[in-house]
Amino acid sequence: MSQARRFPNLISSVIFPLQEKLKGHTTVADRRALEQSQWWSPERLEAHRVERLRSLLVRAGSHVPYYRDLFARIGLDPARVASTADLQRLPFLDKPLIREHTEALKADDARGLVRFNTGGSSGVPLIFFIGSERVSRDVAAKWRATRWWGVDIGDPEVVLWGSPIELGSQDRIRRWRDALMRTRLFPAFEMSDRKVVDFIAQFRAMRPRMLFGYPSAFAHIARYAQRTGERLDDLGIKVVFVTSERLYDHQRALIEQVFGAPVANGYGGRDAGFIAHQCPHGSMHITAEDIIVEIVDAQGRVLPPGQSGEIVVTHLATGDFPFIRYRTGDVGTLGEQPCGCGRTLPVLQKIEGRSTDFIVAQDGTVMHGLALIYVVRDMPGVSAFRIEQESLELTRVRIVTDDDFPQDGDERIRAGMKARLGSAVDVVVEHVVQIPAEGSGKFRYVISKVKT
Ligand SMILES: [Zn+2]
Repeated sequence: MSQARRFPNLISSVIFPLQEKLKGHTTVADRRALEQSQWWSPERLEAHRVERLRSLLVRAGSHVPYYRDLFARIGLDPARVASTADLQRLPFLDKPLIREHTEALKADDARGLVRFNTGGSSGVPLIFFIGSERVSRDVAAKWRATRWWGVDIGDPEVVLWGSPIELGSQDRIRRWRDALMRTRLFPAFEMSDRKVVDFIAQFRAMRPRMLFGYPSAFAHIARYAQRTGERLDDLGIKVVFVTSERLYDHQRALIEQVFGAPVANGYGGRDAGFIAHQCPHGSMHITAEDIIVEIVDAQGRVLPPGQSGEIVVTHLATGDFPFIRYRTGDVGTLGEQPCGCGRTLPVLQKIEGRSTDFIVAQDGTVMHGLALIYVVRDMPGVSAFRIEQESLELTRVRIVTDDDFPQDGDERIRAGMKARLGSAVDVVVEHVVQIPAEGSGKFRYVISKVKT
C-alpha cells in the first residue's frame, strides 16, 4: 500500500531484530543455551519440550481469550499435559482462523507485540503478531545455525531480499542499520544484467563472509557470472544461506560451483518461525527446543517419520500470540536416522516448498516474482491468489476474496502490476472461488510463460 504502511514493516522485520542481536538481551543467553541443548539425549530434549509446551498452554489458557474459550469447550486442563502427543487433542490453527480471531489470539499480558504481514511466496496473505520473547528465540536459532558453518553475528553479510519500495526510499534507515551491523541489504526484485553487474561489484568491494536470500536469486546471479565468465569464487564467501523457496538440486550445484562455497538450506518463515536448518553434514535439523513439528495427512492424522504430509508447527516461544498446531501448507517428511554430526535435533528429511518464477517487464527488466506478489499481498480481503504472466503483453491475476476486499481493489491491483510490468500491459483480474492446485510437489504462486 502506501510507503507509510511499509515503513514500520521494515523496522520490525529488519532493524528491530538486528538491534536485538546487537543489544543481545536474551538472545545471547538463548543462543548459548541452544548450543548446549543441541547435543542432549533425545529423552532430555523431549522432557524439556514437554515442560515448555505445558507452560505455553498454561499461559494461553489463562491469558489468551481464544485458547481460554477453546480449552473450556474441549475440557483440556493444560497443567496436566504430559507429552508432546497431547497436542493431538487440540484442533489445528490455520490462516483463516488467525484472520478471524486476530484480537482474541493476543495475550492480555503480551509484551512487545509487533504486527507482521506475510505470505510473500505462499499465495495466502496473513497479518499476525510477534512478541519480544519470540524475536529473541528466532534470532538465537538463526545465529546457532550460522555458527554451524563458521560464521558469526557481525561477520560481513549480503542479504538479497525485500521490496523495492522498502529498499529504495529509506536510505537513512539503511545507513543506520549498516552502521549497526556489517549486513548490507540488496533488493532482490530487479535482476536485469545491469543490476547484477552492480551487485557483483558491490560484493567484490565488501567481501562478505556469507550470503543470505532466495535460491532463485543467487542462481540467477550465478548464471550471469557463468555466461560472462566472471569469477565469483574468489570473494571469500564461506557459505550461502538460502531460504523462503524450494531449493532445487540444480540451483544448489550451480551456486556452489560459481560462488565456490557450500549452500546451506533453511526452512521457516516469519509466521511459522525458524523451523529447520541444514548442518554441514547435510541434514535439516529442526529447532526442536522451540518448535514441535507434526506431519499430518489429508484427514489431519499425525504420521510417523518416513511418511510425507503437511508440516504443522507449534512454536513454544509464542505465549504472546500463540502458534499452536499451525498449518504451514508445506509438505515434508520427518527423518528416521540420526545425523552424522552428532546433534540430536530431529531431522526434516524432505521439504517440498514453494517456488517462484522470474518475470519480465515490457522493457525487458527481469524481476523476482515477489515484486508482483507484494502488490496483492498488501491488499486487504485477499485470502489466496495466483499470478500468471501469459506473455509480455498479458498477465492474469486470480484472487479469492472476502468482504474486506475494497471496492477499488481490482483497479489497485491492475495499477500496481502495471507500475512494475509496464503501463501498456493488459492485466486481467479474475475473482475465483478457489485457486486450482498444480501437479504434485509444485507450489508456484507466480508463474511466467515468458522466457527469462
Ligand atoms: Zn547434522
